[in-house]
Amino acid sequence: MRKSINRAFKFRLLPTPSQLELLTKYAGCCRYVYNWALTYWLTNYNKGDDPTVYDLIKKLPTLKNDEDRRWLQDCPAQSLQQAIVDLGTALDGWRRLRKRPKYRKKNWNDSFRLAQYFKLNEESSELVVPKLGAVKYIRDRRINGVPRSLTIVKEGDLWFVSVLCELNLECVQHTSSGIIGIDVGVANMATTWDGEKAQFHQHQPSLSTANEKVRKYHRQLSRKIKGSRNRDKVRSKLSKAYRRVTRIRKDTLHKLSRKLVTENAVIALEALSPKQMSAKGGPHKRGLNRSIMNQGWSELVRMIGYKSVETGSVLVLVDPKYTSQTCPKCQHCEKTNRKSQSVFICNRCGFNAHADIVAAMNIRARVKPEAWTL
Ligand SMILES: [Zn+2]
Repeated sequence: MRKSINRAFKFRLLPTPSQLELLTKYAGCCRYVYNWALTYWLTNYNKGDDPTVYDLIKKLPTLKNDEDRRWLQDCPAQSLQQAIVDLGTALDGWRRLRKRPKYRKKNWNDSFRLAQYFKLNEESSELVVPKLGAVKYIRDRRINGVPRSLTIVKEGDLWFVSVLCELNLECVQHTSSGIIGIDVGVANMATTWDGEKAQFHQHQPSLSTANEKVRKYHRQLSRKIKGSRNRDKVRSKLSKAYRRVTRIRKDTLHKLSRKLVTENAVIALEALSPKQMSAKGGPHKRGLNRSIMNQGWSELVRMIGYKSVETGSVLVLVDPKYTSQTCPKCQHCEKTNRKSQSVFICNRCGFNAHADIVAAMNIRARVKPEAWTL
């Protein structure tokens, strides 16, 4: 049996000065169209209408022929359409998660996408894009699979391309029969239980230093005058600091997910729906911590998802109800079993362990036997 998966490969672009100008221009056009479509949609939505992505795309030619918006014609047409498709995705998110789409901002959301008519020339390390020509990139690895679409994005002062490839892999049987349960949390980034051994996994210490820098530049930015040269400088530093935070977090999660799929045939995590995500941990985990935890959970699920195909692991998402209140020994479930953030003592049988380990034990126990018979 074969399985088709998507995988992204990211490379740094090395545009010439004239290409740089075009990249900025295209990103600007796409941002403009995105924001225009959002305004259009909101206006109509407030009147009781709900224009579809297709309705919005149909408006594009008129928009581009408008006397004041002729400059939109310089941008690849498919990228403008993609911007509207992206808005469609954001609107779906709004319907499902009540997450209101935001307007895209210059210098923060500079990106555009291409779904066709591009070519990745690995031999010459060049990306060939309509209207832009051949852009050199740093080929630090080779891609796998067939390139399906591109996202070109500005991060800080640098431009990157993310190439989404479709891979067709032969399904393999995992060499081990291990089952592991993982609880994703705040104090412990991840806690695992494999039936014998519990383990806490943390983010790298450098993450808190990097986070500290982000906070520092945020404070500095708020004090700078809008439009000033100094504000630009701080903003550039801030986006660099953000990039570093993302890199450190992802690095840890990549290593953990790789280890998990190599060592275990079945990997179990809680199936967190958006509602449960906000409920997990209670009010003391609100705000930044919670959003970091949720991000960690979704990224881990995503990474295990695609890496598991290579090793033959199976990712199982189990019912998250009461995982931190149920006794793994006698199954007694009571809120007060959990004495504090970290202490679990069963009111009935006295079983005690770190609360995160208890959660990982329950998550592992909820894997049904049919899960690992492919
Ligand atoms: Zn008990």
